Amino acid sequence: MLPADFDVAVLGAGASGLYAAAQLCRRGCSVLLLEARERVGGRIHTRQVPDLAYPVELGAEFVHGDAPLTLRLLREAGSVAVDTAGRRVVRRAAGNGRGASVNRAALFEQAQRLLRQAALMPEDLSVEEFLKRHAPSEDVSAYVRMMVEGFDAADPHRASVKSIAAEWTGSSLQGQYRPLGGYGAMTTHLARQLDAAGAQLQLGSTVESVEWGGELVHIGVRYAGGSRSYRARRAIIALPLSALQPPALPARAEAADTPGVVRFEPDLRDKHAALAGLALGSVIKVVLHFRRPFWEELHDGRFADAGFMHAPQAPFPTLWSALPFRAPLLTAWMGGPRVERLAAASRERLVELALSSVQQVLQVDAPPADELVGAYLHDWSADPLARGAYSYLAVGGASAPAGLARPLRDRLYFAGEAASDSHTGTVEAALHSGAQAAAAVWAAMRGAAGGAGGA
Ligand SMILES: Cc1cc2nc3c(=O)[nH]c(=O)nc-3n(C[C@H](O)[C@H](O)[C@H](O)COP(=O)(O)OP(=O)(O)OC[C@H]3O[C@@H](n4cnc5c(N)ncnc54)[C@H](O)[C@@H]3O)c2cc1C
Repeated sequence: MLPADFDVAVLGAGASGLYAAAQLCRRGCSVLLLEARERVGGRIHTRQVPDLAYPVELGAEFVHGDAPLTLRLLREAGSVAVDTAGRRVVRRAAGNGRGASVNRAALFEQAQRLLRQAALMPEDLSVEEFLKRHAPSEDVSAYVRMMVEGFDAADPHRASVKSIAAEWTGSSLQGQYRPLGGYGAMTTHLARQLDAAGAQLQLGSTVESVEWGGELVHIGVRYAGGSRSYRARRAIIALPLSALQPPALPARAEAADTPGVVRFEPDLRDKHAALAGLALGSVIKVVLHFRRPFWEELHDGRFADAGFMHAPQAPFPTLWSALPFRAPLLTAWMGGPRVERLAAASRERLVELALSSVQQVLQVDAPPADELVGAYLHDWSADPLARGAYSYLAVGGASAPAGLARPLRDRLYFAGEAASDSHTGTVEAALHSGAQAAAAVWAAMRGAAGGAGGA
């Protein structure tokens, strides 16, 4: 047997890679964890801001519904998840352009009833096509589109209506929590565990190539201006979809050079069908830090307990407060195809648009720029190490996550939010896929050690 540097190389130190590496270290494997950024966490990106006793989440923020692994890890990290509470407000454009509040619960119910039909259809359709054929009113269509673009960050022309229907009628929309102190506590906790267990975590290390045709996996890495290569018996690929799927990159990413995209030798031909069934959504998130939560006093306290605020006509159609914490923060969220239209917008322009959305939602006379202390933003489609926010299923893609997760020749194992067939697109999905990949690697190692062979 050829000598390897490590039993397992894990590529990507997001939630999935960190968790997979921690599981294998616990079992005594030697593990190399390679991460291109100078931090762990990937699409979990918690920032602590001076003079703000509350974290700014530029990536994942909420725990959606039933998420046992996430909750357990948060507990282990000394944190808890708190109910977001808060009332939802939806504003609809009216004749005078000022909008009128509509009953969100009624719209949600109508949309759910409509989507139940999709679950029963023999064939899958895009959300847009389904709405064209079956939506009872333009209000319901607009609401479904807003949720698909906003919540799923998806393009309604590409997204599978069956997968959206399963999500809306499943447990992921039941209950919404946020980690006290931010998601970062969880990834820091996992990184500490790895350090204590003797794993080699290498930040600033961009994987450029993976050669997996022989007995060992050879990994080519760009590191501090130079390059290195490592040999491992097996590799867990815990990278975002965009690192594997260059043809599906958003238009502007294709034009740019493509750091982060990995060359596989042999190529990932066996994954092409799975990759075609998955798409990566787009999100721009702007966190506005104000002097005080001034909206709580407006209009006789109408917004005092507002959690999520929706205004389909605003540039950022979804806003939310930090409830249950009365922090002076409002987050402006834009998801789906409209993000691409702002590809060239400057940071200043995006903040301006976020403030104008706040004005529209709160119905005040001017954007509240004089209340603003600072703004933090991230355009995830423009981030070369993500090129998108999180994945969703394209029409006919029901089996794609399982197809992506399937190992190749007991050399390559796949993890990441897109490779989980439950909770797709979430932190829970990333953790779950990391646990599954680690368990599969461990089973193969034991099989090989017992003389059963694994390849
Ligand atoms: C704006 C936003 C909001 C979100 N909100 C929520 C939410 O509220 N709740 C929720 O549950 N989920 C949310 N998510 C989704 C959640 O963040 C992700 O599903 C999850 O964090 C993905 O983890 P991962 O390990 O699969 O991928 P990642 O976190 O992307 O990890 C992959 C890692 O690979 C690294 N990498 C990429 N290319 C290379 C390379 N060539 N070489 C080495 N390293 C490389 C990346 O830097 C990254 O660290 C949100 C995501 C975004 C972007």
